[in-house]
Amino acid sequence: MNPFQYSRSFAVAGAIQSLMKEPRAYFLAGGTNLIDLMKMGVVLPERLVDINGLPLKGIEKTPTGLRIGALATNSEVADHALVLSDYPLLSLAINAGASPQLRNMATVGGNMMQRTRCNYFFDTAMPCNKRSPGSGCGALSGYNRMHALFGASDQCIAVNPSDMNVAMVALDAVVHVKGPKGERVIPFGEFHRLPGDRPEKDNVLERGELITAVILPAAATAFNRHVHYLKIRDRSSFAFALVSVAAALNIDGTTITAVRLAMGGVAHKPWRLHSVEDFLKGKTVSDEVFAQAAKLAMEGAKAYKYNQFKLTLAPNAIVQALKTASA
Ligand code: SF4
Repeated sequence: MNPFQYSRSFAVAGAIQSLMKEPRAYFLAGGTNLIDLMKMGVVLPERLVDINGLPLKGIEKTPTGLRIGALATNSEVADHALVLSDYPLLSLAINAGASPQLRNMATVGGNMMQRTRCNYFFDTAMPCNKRSPGSGCGALSGYNRMHALFGASDQCIAVNPSDMNVAMVALDAVVHVKGPKGERVIPFGEFHRLPGDRPEKDNVLERGELITAVILPAAATAFNRHVHYLKIRDRSSFAFALVSVAAALNIDGTTITAVRLAMGGVAHKPWRLHSVEDFLKGKTVSDEVFAQAAKLAMEGAKAYKYNQFKLTLAPNAIVQALKTASA
């Protein structure tokens, strides 16, 4: 591991100031992803700014929703009484990720910032436009079994690895950030980006910007009953999603009155399915309607040599998630 500067901050403004000292400086929270990347030589920081002393751990109810501090751990969020009662989809998604030990360390802000698990990104002997812009994409003609179906480019076909992000985007969460130019608010669905010709940029954060909180809107508490997070993976624990589906329904009798639907493991960002939600609204719960919804969800999907199986797995997962959520 290369030598680097280390500093601790106890105020948000001071942390941002410290980060701006070197171009390759990183905020350090739980470190469950960043430290791995440093050990493997994928990320070579000049400075780590330890932000674990910042007052960003709280989870509190506000008039607009539930405010979750960026340093709240994944376990604290998943087990919080208000998350369990009002936003159970988020709890299910978080608990589907990683292991209990990692969830105890990983923070909400860090989970949002975690990098792709593309093998070529981790292997510094291989070309990867995300790790080393302009070097090429090893996965395009390589072993691309875990890779994207939607929104990829010829520069990068990687997927976002987070389960939490899939529920957050389905619940219309909102991200609060603070940086050298002040504060701003970003809808969760606009926080992560598609690769385009800048795959090295996972999200829309600008240099020095720090996630301070995520707000779960009060309106999303309406989706607290018919919910399911289905994660399909190679083993039953501690594995990343091949495909995942976050489904939340409001049902009156047998009529679907409102829907939230998103997928993970299929794109460079959590993949919200707005057109499928519109299709399902007003329909009667049935296997046939769910199959039609899944077919619609797959419009525009493009598979590569080794992830063709996802073209079948993904729609099947959508049908299963909707069936389970509606039961
Ligand atoms: Fe790198 Fe993206 Fe290609 Fe993977 S898919 S090798 S992360 S550029």
